[in-house]
Amino acid sequence: MKAVLLGVGQAGGKLTTALAEFDADAGYGAVLDALAVNTASADLEPLPLDTVLVGQSRVNGHGVGGDNELGAEVMEEDAVEVLDALASKITADAEAIFVVAGLGGGTGSGGAPILVRELSRVYDVPVYALGVLPGRDEGAMYQVNAGRSLKTLVREADATVLLDNDAWRSSGESVEGGFAAINASMAKRVGLLLAAGESVEGVAESVVDTSEVINTLRAGGMAAVGFASAPAAEDPEENVTTVMSTVRSAVMTGMSLPNATEADAALVAIAGDPDRISRKGAEKARKWLQEETGSMQVRGGDFPLDSERVAALVLLGGVERSRRVEEFLERARQAVRDEPEEQPDPADAFQNDEIDDLL
Ligand code: GDP
Repeated sequence: MKAVLLGVGQAGGKLTTALAEFDADAGYGAVLDALAVNTASADLEPLPLDTVLVGQSRVNGHGVGGDNELGAEVMEEDAVEVLDALASKITADAEAIFVVAGLGGGTGSGGAPILVRELSRVYDVPVYALGVLPGRDEGAMYQVNAGRSLKTLVREADATVLLDNDAWRSSGESVEGGFAAINASMAKRVGLLLAAGESVEGVAESVVDTSEVINTLRAGGMAAVGFASAPAAEDPEENVTTVMSTVRSAVMTGMSLPNATEADAALVAIAGDPDRISRKGAEKARKWLQEETGSMQVRGGDFPLDSERVAALVLLGGVERSRRVEEFLERARQAVRDEPEEQPDPADAFQNDEIDDLL
C-alpha cells in the first residue's frame, strides 16, 4: 500500500521517522513521502523530514504543553498550511494517508483528529490514524487526552490503528527509556503491513494485496497489528507447525494492542521464502485465527521475502470490543471523573478590597 505519512506532535514525528527509515532501509518503497508537523520547534529540529511549524502566533514555537484543546484550536487555524505542504506529496500513486500521533499529549492528540477530518474532505483515498495509547503508568492527563482524541479519531478516520505503549512493557524497559526500541518495533509492524500489500512481480496469486489490507481495515473503527518470526526449515513439509505457531505468537504476544483478540475482520500474511512456506500450516493458521477472533472474514496470503525465517503479520480490524480497549477506556473515564473541579480564582479573595491591582 503506497502511503503518505503525516506525523503530528513529538511522538508522531519520531514514529513517522522510524517508519520512513524502516521502509527505506528495507527498500520496500511503500512510504511515498512524509511530513512532520508540530507546535514545538525544538521537537521538529532533530527530524530528518520536511516539517511545518504551526501555531506560531499563539505559542511562538514553544508547544502547547499537553493541552490538547489548544492543540486542536491551533491545528484548526493552521490546517491550510499543513494541507498545502502535503499537497505535492500526495501524488496519484498514493493509496492511503496515515496521520501518526501520540494520543496522550497536546499537539498530536488535539491536532491529529483535525487533520484527519480535513484530509478526508479533500482526498478520496482512505485516511487512517496511527495512534499511540499512553501506558497505564502515565498520568491522568495523558489518559484523558487520549480518551478524547481516540473518540474523535474513531469518528473521523477510516480506521485507527492502535499502538499501545504498554504492549512493550514486558521487554523490561521503562516506557520513556525505551522509546527508540518501541518505535522501531512499532515501525516494523506497520512498515511490513504497508509493504505486504505491495504486489511482487511474477509471484503467484496467493500474495496479499493492498485491497485486502483496506478491506480488513474497513471492518471497523479500531485496528491492531501483530508480528512474530521463527527460523524455517528448507522443506515446507517441516514448517507446518512453525507457520502455525508463528501466527499464534503474533496474536498472543506480538500485537500492538495486547489482548485485542476479538475482531470483526483479520488478515494474516505469511512472510518468507515462498518455497519454505507450508500451505497446510497457513491454512491451519487461518482457521485458528477465525476461531480465536470470532471473525468470519479472515483474509490470508503470502508476503514473499528472501529470508531463511518465516514471519507472520496479523492485522485485526474492528477490535473495539476487545478487553484491552475497554480497559483503556475505563482508565480514561476514571481520569475524567477524578479531574479536579475548576480552581477558584485566587484574586476573588480581594473583591471589594482596599488593595489596588498592580496592573
Ligand atoms: P505532543 O508533542 O504534544 O503531541 O505530545 P507527545 O507526542 O510527546 O505525546 C505524549 C504521549 O506520547 C505520551 O503518552 C508518551 O508516552 C508518548 N510518546 C512520546 N514520545 C514517544 C515516542 O517516541 N514513542 C512512543 N511510542 N510514544 C511516545
